[in-house]
Amino acid sequence: MLELRNVESGYQLLQVLWDVTLHVDEGEFVALLGPNGAGKTTTLRTIAGLVQPIRGTVSFRGRSIGGLAPHQVSRMGIGYVSESLNLFPAMSVLENLLVGAYAVTDKTKIRANMDLVFELFPRLHERRDQLAGTLSGGERKMLAIGRGLMPSPSLLLVDEPSLGLAPIPTLAAFEALKQLSQRGMTILLVEQNVNTTLRLVDRAYVLEQGRIVLEGTGERLLADNHVQEAYLGI
Ligand code: ATP
Repeated sequence: MLELRNVESGYQLLQVLWDVTLHVDEGEFVALLGPNGAGKTTTLRTIAGLVQPIRGTVSFRGRSIGGLAPHQVSRMGIGYVSESLNLFPAMSVLENLLVGAYAVTDKTKIRANMDLVFELFPRLHERRDQLAGTLSGGERKMLAIGRGLMPSPSLLLVDEPSLGLAPIPTLAAFEALKQLSQRGMTILLVEQNVNTTLRLVDRAYVLEQGRIVLEGTGERLLADNHVQEAYLGI
C-alpha cells in the first residue's frame, strides 16, 4: 500500500533521512522505532507531503506521491496524526471532529465516522461539548486520533501517541490503535515506547541516525540482541 524506496529527506541544510526503504501492506500495523532525533517524524512528514524528498520515491497504492502537497496526500486517503496534535483549543470536541471532516461532503459518512470515533473513545462522546483546550493530555490524544479518522483514511500515520502521557492513558491510546487495526485500518506508528509497541504491531523498522538498521516482526525484534541492549535494557 505504501512504499518508500531509497528516500533521502530533510530540512534545508540538514539531511535527516538516508536511503530509507520501507513498506506497509494493506491491513498491516507497522511501527517505526528509534531514538530521539533519528528521523521518525521526518519520515512521517515526508510521506504526508509536509517535507519534500530530496531523492527516492514515495508511492501509495502504486502511485508516486512524492512532491504532492499535504492536502493532496490527505485526499488520497492518508491521515496524519502529528505529535503536536494541532487541535483548536477554543472549539468543542464535536467541532474539532467536524473540522477533520471538512473535505467530506457525504453527511452519512461523517455520521458513520463520528460514530466510529465515539465507539473507540467513549470518553470523547461524554465530553463532546467540552472545549478541546480543557481536555486532559490523554483525551487530547484521543481527539487528535479521532479527528484523523474523520476523512475516512485508508492509511493512518500516527506520531508518538504515548508522548507526555502517563502509563494508563498510553495504554488506552495503544488499545484504540489495536482495535482500529483489528477493524482493518492500515497503520504506520512512530514510537519510542519499544517494549509495548513491539507487542502490539505486526512488523517494525528501527531507524537510527536517519537509516533503517533493522526490520522484522514484533516477535523477532523483541528477541534481537541490538534491540534488547539499546532499547529494552536487557
Ligand atoms: P523524536 O523522537 O525526538 O521526535 P525523531 O526521530 O522523530 O525524534 P525528527 O523529529 O525527525 O526525529 O528529527 C530529526 C532531525 O531533524 C533532528 O536532528 C531535528 O533537530 C531535525 N529537525 C526536525 N525538524 C526540523 C526542522 N523543521 N528544521 C530543521 N531541522 C529539523
